[in-house]
Amino acid sequence: MTNDAALSSEAVALADCLGELVARMRSAEAELGALLVEIEQRGVMELFGYRSAARLLEHLADMPKPATERLIKRARLINPGRNLDGSPIPALAPATGAAARAGRLSNPMIDVITNVLTQVPPEHCASAETNLLAFAEEAGHKQVAALGARILAHLVPDGPAPDDTEPVVPTRELFLRHKRTGVWELSGRFDDETGTRAHALLDALAERRTGDDGPDFRTTPQRYGDAFSDAVDLALNSPDLPMQAGERAHVMVAVSLEDLKSGVGKATLGDTGTMTAAEARVHACDAMIIPAVLGDKSEPLNLGRLRRLISAGLRRALFLRDRGCAFPGCHRPPRHCQGHHIRHWADGGPTDLTNLVLMCAHHHRLLHRSGWEVRIAADGLPEFLPPTFIDRRRKPRRNNLHEPLPFTA
Ligand SMILES: [Zn+2]
Ligand SMILES: [Zn+2]
Repeated sequence: MTNDAALSSEAVALADCLGELVARMRSAEAELGALLVEIEQRGVMELFGYRSAARLLEHLADMPKPATERLIKRARLINPGRNLDGSPIPALAPATGAAARAGRLSNPMIDVITNVLTQVPPEHCASAETNLLAFAEEAGHKQVAALGARILAHLVPDGPAPDDTEPVVPTRELFLRHKRTGVWELSGRFDDETGTRAHALLDALAERRTGDDGPDFRTTPQRYGDAFSDAVDLALNSPDLPMQAGERAHVMVAVSLEDLKSGVGKATLGDTGTMTAAEARVHACDAMIIPAVLGDKSEPLNLGRLRRLISAGLRRALFLRDRGCAFPGCHRPPRHCQGHHIRHWADGGPTDLTNLVLMCAHHHRLLHRSGWEVRIAADGLPEFLPPTFIDRRRKPRRNNLHEPLPFTA
């Protein structure tokens, strides 16, 4: 009681209360992080239709993007992970995780400790963690960072290994391989001019997306991968391409009508590729490509009966009405868009303006996989209903980004 003698009993009680609440807040945040890591391992896409746990949390909790990214990055370091085959990967800093869940560590403290541990040789990781945690009981994160710097200077005197990758020799080569797993691998070397042009093209297409499905949490390689896919689509749509002037190149997706309706089963893409029937359903939904739909005995069904290819006039009308991806907050212009059937044509939905919405490939997939729904409102314009886990009342949202500004000509 002697230390507290200078403080009134009221101040002591208030300080205790603060300490208690801070510990509960830290503990809850650590639990939240652990839960998100688990959701990530079980599959955010499968569970919620969202591309990442950070994107889901941003949308669900209305937290700014940098905060959700930091939270999940931190949680991954102090919670056990899982390999693709399901086998567990021990946490980098398991004791730090336990202390965090007990509410004893601030976020800067966790970051200081994990930052040191990622640089320490693995055989010294556990003892370094014990030392740092013991010091963290009585010191602030800046002091613990100073101790961490001393540990690193001792264990890793030369710093991280130098990056000795050779500069690329400028030539033009491209390798596109179809792996047995079904994945394609692309690599190549290009002269400076081609590389610069490719970079400019991909840069323009790899911009972060905007939209009401939350901020864009794709990594840089993921954004450039999507940009490459968009670039291929744009090239295939180009009227200058020798193969199919003016029309979208027809990639054949072969799937049975049964599987297409249920979204369960397998489909083949082109000559060799395979995809799930759920994926084929998204492809076949696009009013601008032709799927080959097979009957019971894999005989091609009469495509005339199932014809739902959009006519040039209807396409223009759709472009004029939606002016780009109709998903709330999306900037993508019409040339990046597909025609989504609100009621799938395989289920009898018509190919006309009352049943079509223009959507970019990304939001088209999101719509098929997640709880988002679209409908045409009484005024003839599309509106989107968010899933209940985002808005319990499912208040419809619209995209107003393509609307012309009142003061432009
Ligand atoms: Zn669709
Ligand atoms: Zn979009």
